[in-house]
Amino acid sequence: MARNRPCSVCSKWFRPNLRQGNRQHTCGSPGCRKEWHQRACARWHRKNADYDQHTRWVNRLVKDDPSDQRGRHPDPLATINWTLARGEIGLKVSVLVEETGKVLLQRARDAIPA
Ligand SMILES: [Zn+2]
Repeated sequence: MARNRPCSVCSKWFRPNLRQGNRQHTCGSPGCRKEWHQRACARWHRKNADYDQHTRWVNRLVKDDPSDQRGRHPDPLATINWTLARGEIGLKVSVLVEETGKVLLQRARDAIPA
């Protein structure tokens, strides 16, 4: 059974809900819950500082998927915006990644019986 504890926002003592137990950090008032949520979001964004930048870059890098009706694309590597990739990571690294992708794709195709 969870014991009384101080609210992490307003420091008022409260008894945690039995179902939430040690996971409950606030007294439950809407203001404290909102403040706790904002703090949790700020903590998460500090811990995952590059998440938003990563997501934006992936969205710019991967083109809309022009797959056919059976969900296949004739050239999966064509879904990558290689011009953007070269501009961001440099020509040599971009070419290395692109050629590695081609080799892996060919190996995968060879492994599938006709
Ligand atoms: Zn509170």
